[in-house]
Amino acid sequence: MTLEPLYTITVLCGSCEHSFTTSRVRPSYKKAIRTDTDFCGYYKNENPDFYVVRVCPECGFASTENSAKRLSDKQKTDFRTKIGSRWTERDFGGKRSLEDALETYKLALLCAQVIGESERIVASLLHHIAWLYRYQDNKEQEQRFLAHSLDAYIRVFELEGVGANDARLLYLIGELSRRLGRYNDAVQWFSRVIHDKKIIDAAMIRASREQWTVLREQMLAEKMALPDEMSTS
Ligand SMILES: [Zn+2]
Repeated sequence: MTLEPLYTITVLCGSCEHSFTTSRVRPSYKKAIRTDTDFCGYYKNENPDFYVVRVCPECGFASTENSAKRLSDKQKTDFRTKIGSRWTERDFGGKRSLEDALETYKLALLCAQVIGESERIVASLLHHIAWLYRYQDNKEQEQRFLAHSLDAYIRVFELEGVGANDARLLYLIGELSRRLGRYNDAVQWFSRVIHDKKIIDAAMIRASREQWTVLREQMLAEKMALPDEMSTS
């Protein structure tokens, strides 16, 4: 017997406390067939990223498993007045198309902004929206959301500084800068991952070196002046 890729779980809404079901992709189906250099995954079956956002059918509150579990009274009021009051009952609990997924992420982004969710969660939602546009081959919207997510990741870095685990954050800031054509910024971020002695994440150091090489070739191809640290390596 083969199991269906999707299964459902029950979630308690952080806003109205109504419980509802939402679908998830079974772990055995979660392996990507390939992954882009900014971690956007491609899957043979269901894309697990389509199911990250849980939307309460009752009140419209959308969040992820990393969001705050229960809203404060102020957050509930802010959500209700700005989003919930206009919600018409809608269920995203079953199988989702790319368009459904996009709607859930945009709703989650609005909710996160209204309740003042952490910058890390906002950055990740913006980045996922960019990926959904990439799957659709909508380059203009992809670049727009990549730029917003880059700004948000930089704010995370400025607010939290770099801990031992933040090589991935620095790498991502570098890679998104490169994808947006901000080559000189990208050089600085990759350089940090490669040279900062506190960073020991071997996978991210390797990825930064690889993208550094890609970047150097791009800059040479576009006849740009290479920064000092690049001309020697
Ligand atoms: Zn709710």
